[in-house]
Amino acid sequence: MKKLLPISIAGILFLSACGNDSNDASSAAEADELMVTTSFSVIADMAEAVVGEEGSVDYIVPIGEEPHEYEPVPSNFQKVNDSHVFYVNGLGLEEWLERVVNNAAETEVVELAAGVDEITLVGEDAPDPHAWLSPKNIDVYIDNIVEDLSGRVPEKAEIFEENGEIYKQEAEELTEEIEEMMQEIPEEHRLIVVSENAFKYFGEDFNMDTDGIWEMNSHEEGTTGQMNRIIDVLIEREIPAVFVESTVDNRSMETVADNADISIAGEVFTDAVGAEGSGAETYFDMLRHNAETFADGLTNE
Ligand SMILES: [Zn+2]
Repeated sequence: MKKLLPISIAGILFLSACGNDSNDASSAAEADELMVTTSFSVIADMAEAVVGEEGSVDYIVPIGEEPHEYEPVPSNFQKVNDSHVFYVNGLGLEEWLERVVNNAAETEVVELAAGVDEITLVGEDAPDPHAWLSPKNIDVYIDNIVEDLSGRVPEKAEIFEENGEIYKQEAEELTEEIEEMMQEIPEEHRLIVVSENAFKYFGEDFNMDTDGIWEMNSHEEGTTGQMNRIIDVLIEREIPAVFVESTVDNRSMETVADNADISIAGEVFTDAVGAEGSGAETYFDMLRHNAETFADGLTNE
């Protein structure tokens, strides 16, 4: 593994950078390597793609847990402290961000969703944070990563740029794939219903209506009023299926599906990539899996 001279924000890291010889890997201390930490797994996949062989990327919120109301632990603070930069989604996703900033104040925080066309939460004057669920937003995330890393390690800027272009190209191909899948769904069935109404960006980009039992995971979840409302919508529009998320308890949706007399057509990935063996271990695979699940569930009667 190649070692880098870090553009360090924590002065202490400069100690080990002195006399760094990039040709002599054995002499390079651990702190010399570019280290990026992200808040959750989805944006870690993006950062890994741009960083490539030039450093390492880790994330805080474990796969299977949701990133809204996560409770950071001391080892998380340490991880962020040891990193050159902490990438977050922003748009209000990480409600625990302040605790990390307070405990790892030396490390710069960069919001990767900065610059997306924001969609507001239903009934609120705040943005919906789930911009990553549409691959059409990937250019914003990747450009932010490339710009930041190129500023930190200017001699590697071209590599980051190139890695980013490859990822963006792949996202474009995936966008076309998803467009074709969504066109298969009959017009009258084009409503995605999940527990947390997180697919607004996806819906806008692929001409799908979206709804949920509740608006966001950090809000009140699964009240009788919320369930009755969505049951009425599903019956009224004769939607054939609903979906559950890998990061949300299924019980509310089971109640909704039972009462609307329809099936849960599959599990989708919103706030985390899939666990090992799920077939959704990467950002692209999770988006592809989601689209396939929607197409199958909403096309079948
Ligand atoms: Zn969410």
